[in-house]
Amino acid sequence: MTHIITSLCLRDSACVDVCPVECIVGGQPEEDWPWFYIDPETCIDCGACVPECPYEAIFIEDEVPTALSLAGGQVRVPHDTKEHLTAEEGETVDLTPDIQPNYDFFEKGPGYDALNM
Ligand code: SF4
Ligand code: SF4
Repeated sequence: MTHIITSLCLRDSACVDVCPVECIVGGQPEEDWPWFYIDPETCIDCGACVPECPYEAIFIEDEVPTALSLAGGQVRVPHDTKEHLTAEEGETVDLTPDIQPNYDFFEKGPGYDALNM
């Protein structure tokens, strides 16, 4: 298991410094990897990152919501379009499609190499 950063991430990096195993990295290039990502092989599921996120973007993988009610004006960046979307009050969104990009970033994308770009 791991924690997952979802499309509610707006890249303010508040979660990075609290991770005891330094497994959260910013996606690069940003136009392809718009969020921060958690290395599932390294995450120890301590939960320290969750309360640090001002956008409540981080979930335990098994608890990523299928129908999260968004606040009006809340912004998210879906991985398929990489566009900033602004929610209507009460709009619900399935965040489970956000799970796979966390794996893809490390398996198919730049992964930790992004740190050295
Ligand atoms: S749950 Fe703990 S180990 Fe996993 S990314 Fe968050 S802070 Fe790091
Ligand atoms: S998950 Fe939250 S705290 Fe971490 S970079 Fe994204 S918006 Fe910032």
